[in-house]
Formats: sequence, structure tokens, C-alpha cells
Amino acid sequence: MGCGKPSTETPHLIPYTETRTLMGTVVSITVYAPTFEKGEEAASDAYRQMEALERLLSGYTAESDVSRVNRMAGASAPVSPPTLFVIERALEMSKLTGGAFDITVGPLVALWRDSVVRARLPSDADLQAALLQVGYRKVKVSEGAEEATVSIPVGTSIDLGGIAKGYIVDQAVGVLRRHVSSALVNAGGDVYALGAKPGGEPWVIGVQDPRRPDDLSAYIDTLYVTDRAVATSGNYARYFEIEGKRYSHIVDPRTGRPVDSVPSATIIARDATTADALATAVSVLGATGTRELVLSLPGVESLLFVRTEEGRWERHASPGISALTTKPPRLD
Ligand code: ADP
Ligand code: MG
Repeated sequence: MGCGKPSTETPHLIPYTETRTLMGTVVSITVYAPTFEKGEEAASDAYRQMEALERLLSGYTAESDVSRVNRMAGASAPVSPPTLFVIERALEMSKLTGGAFDITVGPLVALWRDSVVRARLPSDADLQAALLQVGYRKVKVSEGAEEATVSIPVGTSIDLGGIAKGYIVDQAVGVLRRHVSSALVNAGGDVYALGAKPGGEPWVIGVQDPRRPDDLSAYIDTLYVTDRAVATSGNYARYFEIEGKRYSHIVDPRTGRPVDSVPSATIIARDATTADALATAVSVLGATGTRELVLSLPGVESLLFVRTEEGRWERHASPGISALTTKPPRLD
């Protein structure tokens, strides 16, 4: 992950890097600031914002908005403005991706987690029963003057795991912008590069080699970006293991089964919320569906590594990727 020396043109900016565990993953922030103290202050402000949002959006804490919506299934649950924003954005992404992205996968995720505990694959009957509770159109949002509410039917549950991290990265970047003009946030594969590095060099982001999941320094591609979000969904970091086989933690909302043909999906977009949700969605859509979708979205690029049925690896890149994988020449 890029964190070079400050260039000679801007000798007064120094890099400050901090890493914390948050949202069940490692979150690192690098900023270029005039002093160590200013860098530290920017990063700690950003972490504070991320922690506050995690408390609202996490499915793992009983006090979060998400847990309240799920607990109150069958009735309208009040939610705070950030949660409303993420849920509305998620529903837009569902429409955009033909339902490949769907936050109502909660019952399916629960079924597969349960299968891990029981060490047995779910039965078709279990899958069909869970699928009946899935469908983004079941989520009803109402924005009153006083408060917003979200309601889902009894039996349905929402899971913001495919979009919340991206949103939290975007909000952290919003905080960093008040302090600095050059920063990199990486929340376990959801990255945003703010500005360029001092001297105008782009930020350098390595794409993990999906063939070597256990070597985190093995990169298959390198991206050079400025003011862009880069999100990678892969089946190497988080997965379900049942009967000795690894299954992706991304499920296809149409079949209820974990996806298995896209071990690595990277999306480059203008914001991390979009990049995160699309990276999850294209893991479901596969190479052909991704090509059509990405060509229709301005400012979005995709880089997929897929495994064919014969076990061959294929790289599928959208047309704009080659410009991002080439290090731009220095003009000075
Ligand atoms: P990561 O957490 O590794 O960045 P993703 O952004 O791809 O991964 O999100 C995966 C998470 O999203 C899953 O753990 C689950 O909570 C949720 N999820 C799984 N399948 C879908 C789907 N089809 N649409 C939306 N969210 C999903
Ligand atoms: Mg995602």
C-alpha cells in the first residue's frame, strides 16, 4: 500500500500512518500533514467518525439501527439519517444490479452460518424456505418530517455487510478532507485515495493475487489512482467452511447459494459506497453480467479474476482499467 517519501516540492508534508481494528477488519489510514501531530489528529478524528457509524450499522451489536430494524420486523423501526442513507443507497444498487445486490440476504447468511456450526450443507428445503424471506422490495422506507422508519416483514432480516464499510470509508474521508488534501483509507479491501501524494504522484493500490490467498503481499495487479475508491470482494478473506470446502460469504440472492466463479472482484468508482456494493454485486453477476453493467455506469471500472469450470484463471478488465494499471510518467 503506497506511502512514499514526501517529494522535494512539498518538503513540509510528512506521511502519518495509523492502523486500528474496526468493523471486524483492519483499517489503516495514511495522511500527508504538515506535522506528526496534525496527521495524528486527522486520523483520530476519522476513526472516531468510523466508530460512531459502526455502532449504527453493525449487525453484531444489539443497539445498532440494523439490529433494531431486524428485531422489529413486522413493524416500523426508527432509524438515524446515516442508516436511512445507506439503506436507500442499497435499494438503488439492488435496482441497478437487477437484484444481485440485496441487503435482505440476512436469512441466507444466517442459514449458511448455521451450516458451518452444524458442519452440514443446508438442505434444498431450508434454502427454499430462506429464499422466501429474501427480496429487496420487501424493505419499506418512510421518511417523515420528524423521523425516518424502515420496516421489513417478519422472517426477513437485513445485512449491510456488503455496503456499510464503503459508506464508513466515505464518511471518514469526509472528515479527513477537513484536515488534509492527501490521504489513503483502507478498510480491509475497501479503499479510498484522497487527492494525490505530495508532488502529484497517484496512490498505489495492490490487488491481492486470488491464487495465493495466504500471501497478503502477493499482488496480481497494481492500480494508480487519485480521488477514487477501489473495493475488492474476494473469497479468500472471509468465507464459510463446511465439510472441508470453502464457500464465499457472498450469496446469490436468486439461488440462495454462495457464489463460486468469481474469486476476486475489484470495482473502481468515485465513492466507496458504490464501489463496495458493486464489488459484491459483480461477484454474483460474473464476467458477462459485469461487462454489461459496468459499461452502462460512467466513472466505474471493473477488474475480475474468474475461474472457469475447467479450473483455468481468466482476467476480465473493463476498458478503462489499462489506464489505471499503468504508472503515469513523471512530467518534471
Ligand atoms: P467484505 O466484507 O469482504 O468487504 P463484501 O463487501 O463483498 O465483503 O460483502 C460481503 C457481505 O455482504 C457478506 O458478509 C454479507 O454480509 C453481505 N452479502 C452477501 N451476499 C450479498 C448480496 N448478494 N448482496 C448484498 N450483500 C450481500
Ligand atoms: Mg461489498
